[in-house]
Amino acid sequence: MNRGSGLRIGKILGIPIYLHSTWVFIFAAITYMIAAQFKQQHPLWTETQHWTVGVLTSLLFFASVLFHELSHSAVAQHYNIRVVSITLFLFGGLARIEREPSRAIQEFNIAIAGPLASGFLSGGFFGLTLLFPYSQTVGALATWLCGTNAALAVFNLLPGFPLDGGRIFRAIVWGATKSFEKATRVAGASGKMIAYAMILFGAWGVVHGNVQMLWTVLIGWFILNAAQESVAQMAIRETLAGLSAADVMSKEVPTVPGHITLEEYGTEVLRTGRRCHLVVSDDRLVGMMNVHTLNAIPREEWAHSSVQAAMIPRQKILWTSPDEPLLGLLERLLSADVNQMPVVSGARDDAPQIVGIVTRDSILRVMQTRSELGPVATSR
Ligand SMILES: [Zn+2]
Repeated sequence: MNRGSGLRIGKILGIPIYLHSTWVFIFAAITYMIAAQFKQQHPLWTETQHWTVGVLTSLLFFASVLFHELSHSAVAQHYNIRVVSITLFLFGGLARIEREPSRAIQEFNIAIAGPLASGFLSGGFFGLTLLFPYSQTVGALATWLCGTNAALAVFNLLPGFPLDGGRIFRAIVWGATKSFEKATRVAGASGKMIAYAMILFGAWGVVHGNVQMLWTVLIGWFILNAAQESVAQMAIRETLAGLSAADVMSKEVPTVPGHITLEEYGTEVLRTGRRCHLVVSDDRLVGMMNVHTLNAIPREEWAHSSVQAAMIPRQKILWTSPDEPLLGLLERLLSADVNQMPVVSGARDDAPQIVGIVTRDSILRVMQTRSELGPVATSR
């Protein structure tokens, strides 16, 4: 999932809430399913009644999913971990937090908050059925939501990463072994096993004529991807461990004058093969120019536009320092969607000096080389 992909619908607890494009389909499908179920259970209701209660139930279901994600988020915020966004999508919700928790107990509490919230909602809707024993509509709605929230709590407790249960499992292994890497690997492996089991079980159901089991296959497939991704992220962490910006930066930082045209800049790029330049004017750094920015300008404007007009101005450049750990730096590059960052030393004193430039490519090259060589002991 990309950061904040989809339609932004609001902000709760300071967290932007997004609807993923798949949400529309799932909302329609769930509403249809619920309405069909109500039709079967309550044949005396009018058509309007089936659909109104169906839509209402469906909306409350998504509110329940949102409540589940907000519970994770509230606990994360309690530990000063920023929650970047919450996205509601095909298989429920996803709260993106800025960093992994730094202690096992934090991960445990953040993870368990979701299933607890769903369990709490399930109990609440059960209470509603007792409060309105004679209302068929409220009864049907509350019964469905009571069951679904209970199912959500139980399903999320399955001990496979990336489900909440997998995180709880990881936190326990992490606490016991003191190794985050080992814990992630174990939880990732059990996530894959659960995913394969769901895919097989679902496929078996579909083959035997139960089309609804296709859901189980889809969810299993989704978990499989997420489990693989989390293990891959772990591998990246390991390859980049101990490295900092100074290790991969290129010390040669090419410059171009601000007054040249984009046409001339394009020629310079073709001639040297360098894709990024710092822009100077009267010996002062005024900005940064690269191929990406150049390509954003229509070709016919290159002849009469200057580099200075098109460049990323100095205030908008993202900087790094020689000692910034590579993993954090890569995350910053990716989340800001930039390809390179100048390395500045002495930024805290009065005389900042550009000592090099780090590019995504240079980080990827290091990762590739290191993974080809296998695990090597770093000098630090
Ligand atoms: Zn959850």
